[in-house]
Amino acid sequence: MDKNELELINKYTNRPFSEDELFTFSITLCDNEIDRDNERFSDTALEKLSRLFVGVTGITDHDPRADNQTARIYECRTESPDGQYTVDGRKYMRLRAKAYIPRSKCSDEVIMQIESGIKKEVSVGCAVAKKICSVCGSDFSSCNHIAGHVYSGKKCSVILDEPTDAYEWSFVAVPAQKAAGVSKFYRKENKMDIEKKLLQGGEQTFSADEMKALSDKLSELTEKAADGEAYRTRLLTDIRKLSAVALPELKSDTLSFITSNMNADKLEELHKALSAKASEIMPVVPQLAHVKTETKYDNSYYNNI
Ligand SMILES: [Zn+2]
Repeated sequence: MDKNELELINKYTNRPFSEDELFTFSITLCDNEIDRDNERFSDTALEKLSRLFVGVTGITDHDPRADNQTARIYECRTESPDGQYTVDGRKYMRLRAKAYIPRSKCSDEVIMQIESGIKKEVSVGCAVAKKICSVCGSDFSSCNHIAGHVYSGKKCSVILDEPTDAYEWSFVAVPAQKAAGVSKFYRKENKMDIEKKLLQGGEQTFSADEMKALSDKLSELTEKAADGEAYRTRLLTDIRKLSAVALPELKSDTLSFITSNMNADKLEELHKALSAKASEIMPVVPQLAHVKTETKYDNSYYNNI
């Protein structure tokens, strides 16, 4: 560690720390490679993030309690290693940071994990003001292109631009960004992104728009579930009636037990079999013969006899 670095670190401490009291290490925060979500930071976004991340504390997991905030970034810069290019042929650029941890009994373990390479991959939390479509260059939320789809031989990706805040970074167990072994998460707006975020798991932050979208989705699913439940109830009612004709020895509680764990497909199958059996036994049900119902399940029992 040179004198400059020690000075930079001591800007954040309440008393001057000596080199012996500090452990420093380098990390790659993020880069301009297209990640598996088909998103990438713009080079200018990385430049701006290099300023925003200075002074930001890092946590060892996604639990943002003070006692987990073990490391602080004191230096951050972009770098482009010679001869490295992104998958789509741009000059590769990454955001490298230097961070320090005060040496203490409490930090022994995390220092050991960093030195041994167990803690290596980093996830960053930042907010971006702009998301640009790589195909048409306009605001990604307003164009019709879909990230990951290919248009005239060009794969659409979302360019994350104009970062407004860098609020945290943390070590993670599983990297999401393929090339650098680095993952990222940040505030996103549209529905597709919410699904991605939910799939990623861990601790996530949702904006007001995203909360609204989630609430709408929940209402839609609740409605669908209610329809499904009504359909199941109709099927079960029919099955009980048909069973009374086709299998009179079968007690109703036994039937309930059998059907309780059946899904709609199995219930439909049972309904069909009981219908066939019942129509053999009791081939005429004149009052229902003309009824054409709109139900989704097989009602041949009523219509064909
Ligand atoms: Zn577009």
